[in-house]
Amino acid sequence: MPTPFCKICFKPIEVTSFATLLDSHLTVCDSCNSRLRPQFIEFELEGIHGLALYDYDHMIKEKLYLFKGCHDYELKDMFLERFRIYLRIRYFKHIVIPMPSWHEDDQWRGFNHVEAMFSCLKLPMRKIFGKSKPHKQANLSFSNRHQISAIMILNDKSSLRGKSILLVDDVVTSGETIKAALALLRPLNPKKINVLVMAKTSLK
Ligand SMILES: [Zn+2]
Repeated sequence: MPTPFCKICFKPIEVTSFATLLDSHLTVCDSCNSRLRPQFIEFELEGIHGLALYDYDHMIKEKLYLFKGCHDYELKDMFLERFRIYLRIRYFKHIVIPMPSWHEDDQWRGFNHVEAMFSCLKLPMRKIFGKSKPHKQANLSFSNRHQISAIMILNDKSSLRGKSILLVDDVVTSGETIKAALALLRPLNPKKINVLVMAKTSLK
């Protein structure tokens, strides 16, 4: 089998840890991976438990930009791949529901980055959210963020009764978009909702 190459430094991925020994499909080498510092931040939003794998620091910001802003699809697994087995066990029997992304961005980018990032968990995924009109959260002032709930819509209103849901997103900041999603999810009667995000900004 050819030696895999690190998608960050382009050097061969040598076996220098259990992770590189056990998984021959890793995206990044141990050296590059050591610069990403997972924090496993537990948080709560309206009584729902959330887990953020990383703090949204400059390193995560830069790599997310490469993946999302520069359309580098090859990097899609780099944030979650080292925790894949743990997360699959922790969220066993959950249905992954990705947060909506800006539709125009998807077309331009060629993929939905949230779906791509969380597909490495290989858990069933249902894409039920959409947006009624183009919108970018970054362009909204804090007082306007409640408008998100007016923009986010359910494309699929079928019942989630008895199901455990894992709501996923790339970065959580104020949590307002997650709250809007929870308000849409609750009437579908899921048994349980958990939130998993790749990174969380520390509240100032
Ligand atoms: Zn590397």
